[in-house]
Amino acid sequence: MYNFIYFNDDGKIRKPWFVENSKVPIILSYVAPIDIYAIAFGPFVWCRGTMGDQLKNHEVIHYHQQLELLFVGQWLLYVFYWLKGLIKYKDGAVAYRESPFEREAYANDQNLDYLKNRERFAWRKYT
Ligand SMILES: [Zn+2]
Repeated sequence: MYNFIYFNDDGKIRKPWFVENSKVPIILSYVAPIDIYAIAFGPFVWCRGTMGDQLKNHEVIHYHQQLELLFVGQWLLYVFYWLKGLIKYKDGAVAYRESPFEREAYANDQNLDYLKNRERFAWRKYT
C-alpha cells in the first residue's frame, strides 16, 4: 500500500542522486563529530570520493529512512538520537554510531537486497 514511497513505478528501489568527488562532506566534517565520507541529505548523497555497492546501499537506507519520515522528521529525530547518545556516551562519534538510523544502516548495508524487503520504520527495531 505504501510501496510508492520506497519504489518507483517500474518496481525498482527509489534511489537518491549520488554525487561523487564532492566537497560537501569535507566542509560538513568541520562541524560534525565525525569525519564524513558520505552523507545522505534530501534527494542527494554527497561523497568525498567514489562509492562502492555497500556504501551506496548504506546511504540508500538513510534515504528511505528520510522518505518515510518526510525528510524533516528524520533530520529532527537524527539530531534527537544523537544528542541523547551524546548525553549517554559523552562521545560524539559513539553517539553517531549508536543512533538507530546508523545502527539499522550498518547492520544491513552489506545485504544488497535489504531494501527490497525492508519493513517500514525498520530503524525503530534499533532504538
Ligand atoms: Zn550512516
